[in-house]
Amino acid sequence: MLELKAVNSSFTQSVSIQAQVIKYLSQHRQLHARSLEAGGQLFGVVDPDSIIITCATGPYSKDDRGPRHYRSDAMSAQSEIKQQAKFGNVYLGEWHTHAEKVPRASGHDIDAMRRLMKSSNLATNGLLMVILGQGLDKGGISVYSYMDGKLLHWDIE
Ligand SMILES: [Zn+2]
Repeated sequence: MLELKAVNSSFTQSVSIQAQVIKYLSQHRQLHARSLEAGGQLFGVVDPDSIIITCATGPYSKDDRGPRHYRSDAMSAQSEIKQQAKFGNVYLGEWHTHAEKVPRASGHDIDAMRRLMKSSNLATNGLLMVILGQGLDKGGISVYSYMDGKLLHWDIE
């Protein structure tokens, strides 16, 4: 899959996920019955027209992972966020996998974003959440934003 672009009518900016990021995430797709959820952090640049995801990190060795849940190790995530900032990469949000064809955010995912927003010192006023399903087509990726207590789904163009 090449670069992917997502839009939401409530936002003037679009979200682009660069091809190398899609490739990186795709390695962690849950294709087998015993696959564990994987995840990590998303980084990139923000310009007036778009939010561009240029880099993804994780999973980390100390993460809490199961077939149906994932939580990044907070220390590992923090040190990665610091590290990426040195390269000028802004922390944009989180990614994780789901063992389903068309991935949809769960109640647990929404809670996790709420907690994250409360505890984070962010350079942006919202966070992105990308969920990677089993499919390789564009239906296999879901893009969400979490802002002002609301989770919004973005359409892939
Ligand atoms: Zn989830």
